[in-house]
Amino acid sequence: MKPRIGVLALQGGFAAHGAILSRLGVHVDEVRTPGQLADVDALVMPGGESTTMSMLLERSGLLEPLAERLSAGMGVLGTCAGMILLAREVVDGRADQHALGLVDITVRRNAYGTQIESFEADIDVHGLDSPFHAVFIRAPVVERTGPGVEVLARHEDRAVLCRAGQATVAAFHPELSGDERLHARFLADL
Ligand code: GLN
Repeated sequence: MKPRIGVLALQGGFAAHGAILSRLGVHVDEVRTPGQLADVDALVMPGGESTTMSMLLERSGLLEPLAERLSAGMGVLGTCAGMILLAREVVDGRADQHALGLVDITVRRNAYGTQIESFEADIDVHGLDSPFHAVFIRAPVVERTGPGVEVLARHEDRAVLCRAGQATVAAFHPELSGDERLHARFLADL
């Protein structure tokens, strides 16, 4: 049976994740309701705006079931805003923004500064035999990684791709460079 991979589709860049996952041959479901979440085996949390996504998670009734699935070990790939939502601690967030706290990292929102808010860089990823072209869009900076967090890639000494248990989080947008390798690895790790 093909695994069913959900893409959280409340806001932000979910469509490109869905396209890349479909190309990799899995069944993709957009997730907007608790019932849809219950049907998937793993979840992608896309980039977008973490404060808005947090509010929509609450309104849609997804926040609690999502926290439950995550604590039960569901595989998750969080990119950019998705990384922020999965972090243990968020600096420069809104006071009412939820941190799901699954990954023991501290992230600072929009911390690459206004002049280089968005940029692209080739990064070396642990386990890939050639660089990955990473697109950063108002990306969070990872300021701290806890002991259980494996750093898979850095950009200028800052962790930009991390894995902790069933979660992989990226400060950049792996769905935007036409390179399927990080999604393929996420699926292989499930
Ligand atoms: N700056 C956004 C936030 O704080 C994240 C940007 C992105 O996901 N590309 O949520």
